[in-house]
Order: sequence, then C-alpha cells, then structure tokens
Amino acid sequence: MYTFSEPQNTACFTCDHVINKKRPILSVTHDAEDGSWQFMCGHDDHDESNAKVVSLKQITEIDNTINALSNMPLGCGADRESGNDEWQGYRLSE
Ligand SMILES: [Zn+2]
Repeated sequence: MYTFSEPQNTACFTCDHVINKKRPILSVTHDAEDGSWQFMCGHDDHDESNAKVVSLKQITEIDNTINALSNMPLGCGADRESGNDEWQGYRLSE
C-alpha cells in the first residue's frame, strides 16, 4: 500500500533504528518550509551517524501503518506510544 501524494522516490529522513527494524516509527513530522518528511523512532539518543535518507516507498515497506499519515498537512507532526497505538497529531512550532 502507498497512499502518499508525493512520488514514491521522494527522499525522506529516518534513523538506522527504523531501517534495521530495531525500533518502530513513533515520531513523524512534515516540515512546513521544505515539505520534507521525517520518520523517527522517537528516542533522544541520536547523533549524525544514526541519520539516514530513504525513499517514501521504502518507509511504507518498513511500516505500512504510516500510510495513515499520508494526508498530514505541512507543519504538522504525529506521535504514538507504540507501533500498535493511534497517532496523536500536533502542530509543529514555528
Ligand atoms: Zn532512532
């Protein structure tokens, strides 16, 4: 399943925990300025070596539940407690 309006090869940001499936995606943001998506594990223990760039298609293959956020507007984010919980949306601060 792929429900994002952006092309499937659109670059997005994630962390190696998500790519390696060591942790679920728990924090998603949609940047207001450049429209970029970030799909993070939600932990605070990242440095530059953890940052990865993948395509939106790859992210939906890692976790197809993130298709539920494909209509999330620019300047918004969503968190969830675990991979089985509902997303809680919020506005990103300017
Ligand atoms: Zn991570």
